[in-house]
Amino acid sequence: MNMQSLVFDNVFTQKLPADPHTGSERRQIRNALFSRVEPTPVVRPYLMHYSPQTAELLGLDAATCTGEAFLKVFAGNQLLPGMDPHATCYGGHQFGNWAGQLGDGRAINLGEVKTAGGHLMLQLKGAGETPYSRTADGLAVLRSSLREYVCSEAMFHLGVPTTRALSIIGTGEQVMRDMLYDGHPALEHGAVVCRVSSSFVRFGHFQMLAARQETELLATFTNFVIEREFPAIAKAHQDDTSRYLAWFDDVCQRTAKLMVEWMRVGFVHGVMNTDNLSILGETIDYGPYGWLEGFDPDWTPNTTDAGQRRYRYGQQPAVAQWNLLQLANALYPLIEETKPLEDILGNFATHYEAEWQRMMANKLGLPDFDKSLTNRLLKLMTETETDMTLFFRHLADVKNADTDAAYLQNAYYTPERINLELQAQTQQWLSDYLKVAEQQGQSHGLRAALMNRTNPLYVPRNYLAQLAIDDADRGDFQRLHTWMDVLQKPYTWQEGMDEYAQKRPEWARNRAGCSMLSCSS
Ligand code: AMP
Ligand code: MG
Repeated sequence: MNMQSLVFDNVFTQKLPADPHTGSERRQIRNALFSRVEPTPVVRPYLMHYSPQTAELLGLDAATCTGEAFLKVFAGNQLLPGMDPHATCYGGHQFGNWAGQLGDGRAINLGEVKTAGGHLMLQLKGAGETPYSRTADGLAVLRSSLREYVCSEAMFHLGVPTTRALSIIGTGEQVMRDMLYDGHPALEHGAVVCRVSSSFVRFGHFQMLAARQETELLATFTNFVIEREFPAIAKAHQDDTSRYLAWFDDVCQRTAKLMVEWMRVGFVHGVMNTDNLSILGETIDYGPYGWLEGFDPDWTPNTTDAGQRRYRYGQQPAVAQWNLLQLANALYPLIEETKPLEDILGNFATHYEAEWQRMMANKLGLPDFDKSLTNRLLKLMTETETDMTLFFRHLADVKNADTDAAYLQNAYYTPERINLELQAQTQQWLSDYLKVAEQQGQSHGLRAALMNRTNPLYVPRNYLAQLAIDDADRGDFQRLHTWMDVLQKPYTWQEGMDEYAQKRPEWARNRAGCSMLSCSS
């Protein structure tokens, strides 16, 4: 199918109130969810990569995705008939503080495409100024765009809920950024990513309406989101209050599941502000994210958060719950009773814990969760600077605690620092683990199979992203292409692709972009 066959229904912009003004002049809006604004054209767009899987969702074939029209549309240089470009208005808590109106400062929704399975919003990120750009330029640089693009698709293939990415297009223009916020601004290549999701609505959309005390619009909007994105709940609940509560419960459960998935694959979002949490429970807004290398619950890749470490790996479930509390506060005017909201929120920890236990049992290839075994392992991994991804893959091969411990060697970053005591504890843990597997009647074959479909081998490690960025900055996209192919099958060992499944090399330990990232993008 070609570009002209995309059918837009744009229910969001048709059903919800718009800001009466258009264009990108900065403003606070009232009683509206979005402002109409067009992407800013760029001089010399070039396609770096497109995702065949996301293209397929839209019914676009390879010839279309490599053609002129695709390049123009997804660079922001041309609109298709039926598109209704706009930026949405939301607020949010940033690092725990209410920040007021934020909104799509550099994201422009092009329109909603009708698909076989429902609808998909197409969104350009980095396509120029909007009323919500505040003091910034509405643009995005190649490095952050590539990181978002790769990780969106990698997450999908890992089986983690996420917004998708259709394309990454270089703009041929330069953008000024101070990458580490240390007073050294430099010009970088600009890029535009087309993101795709059923909806880009965040907790912050509800918070904004509540903060402005636009309760009627809050009700309209909440009903809209439930009907459009949660049709089963809309159908099952006619009464408003029970509908809102059932829906809030669903959002809590989805968010709890998402946290378990992040913990499973070792993902650290880095900026879990309430404006960066999707109402659908998808991973959204890939900024200074990272993947655990040496297992460390206290780790965050985001240097902007280095002091407080609010968004560190181990804290993510608790932060999600705090964010849900902010959402509950925003919904309160619709319900006018705190108790039912509190009760639902109270279930978050129970849901999370149950799902987490199931997930950890799967990671260890066991039919049943074993608390002491799991906790001992997590402690040991922290103390021995163990690469989480490699460790679980190697552990699947271990059949005999005495002879096979060496398989794990390659997962340690500093094996010379693992003292005799830690070695003995590891040995003891291994033999206890194999005993538990035996007691649970789990054969090695079944255990390894369960582990290898739970524990990925290829994750988009930061240093690999940096290598792909270094090449792409020079105009060489081969590494990006190869890596994107590898990431399509993250659980399957692929011949000749070992370089994509290595622990972080020493040169990357403290290099900017590899272990240190700021919000600059
Ligand atoms: P983030 O921390 O990336 O989620 O962004 C927080 C807010 O800043 C959002 O409202 C973004 O749209 C906005 N923002 C971030 N970068 C830019 C930029 N270069 N131009 C305009 N707005 C931006
Ligand atoms: Mg954001």
